[in-house]
Amino acid sequence: MTAWDAMAARRAGVPVLEPGHVWLAGAGPGDPGLLTLDALAGLQQADVVVHDALVDQRVLALAAKEARLEFAGKRGGRPSATQTDISQRLIALARSGERVLRLKGGDPFVFGRGGEEVMALAAAGVPFRVIPGVTAGLAALAAASIPATLRGINRAVIFAAGHGADEEEFDWAPLARAGQPIVLYMVMHNLERIAAALMAAGVARQTATAVIASAATPRERILVSTLEKVAAEAHAQKFEPPAIVVIGEIVDFPRNLAANAAAGTKKPEEPR
Ligand code: SAH
Repeated sequence: MTAWDAMAARRAGVPVLEPGHVWLAGAGPGDPGLLTLDALAGLQQADVVVHDALVDQRVLALAAKEARLEFAGKRGGRPSATQTDISQRLIALARSGERVLRLKGGDPFVFGRGGEEVMALAAAGVPFRVIPGVTAGLAALAAASIPATLRGINRAVIFAAGHGADEEEFDWAPLARAGQPIVLYMVMHNLERIAAALMAAGVARQTATAVIASAATPRERILVSTLEKVAAEAHAQKFEPPAIVVIGEIVDFPRNLAANAAAGTKKPEEPR
């Protein structure tokens, strides 16, 4: 009996991936420990796993031995399959009776194209299930011991993409005015410009800012800086994508925690 069989035997209602069905699942940021049990169930049952470049090899290694792995996505500047091609491929595989697992880095719907794939599957009448994943924004914060919300500090968290088709027109000022921490994805090429836009809109130059690269992988790196200096320091220290940038007082939490521990004072109050 494998560890999977043993676990599945103890879990009531493990979902069954039927032939001709597609599961669209989040693979998390890297570490397979961050997969959901349903994503693992998909890996164990799929005949074919269609994955993007952000899906960690250690996650793909959990696919059943007989499963085929198909790469679909962008990789190192090479021409990539279009979204329509990928959606059509999922439909064709399902129609030929395969059990299909579509695996996407993080959560399939957070700055992923899960929505487009689900629309295409629905339009084609292919049955599907969506399995959420741990998004990089939250996994990276956890890796850096930064709480996404902290009583008395913030009551909202902003997730924003630093890169996108409409980036020229995007107005950062309303996000700056919200006074809530901002978690940026896909930002490394635009970090200087976005930091400048946020400062121009009133975010203090000294605001604590962290870069967390390759969170939950063996290449994980963390830089803690200020909004004013973060772009130059990340560049000087050769931080590379994939990375999350988080701006706000919550970034000070690990430092405050360490200072409190050193002073022998009480830790911050437990959330109730
Ligand atoms: N759907 C994904 C995000 C896709 S957009 C999710 O929910 O996580 C791609 C961006 O995600 C990257 O540019 C980077 O900002 C972020 N990212 C993905 N994996 C990451 C990781 N392991 N560490 C840090 N950032 C990561």
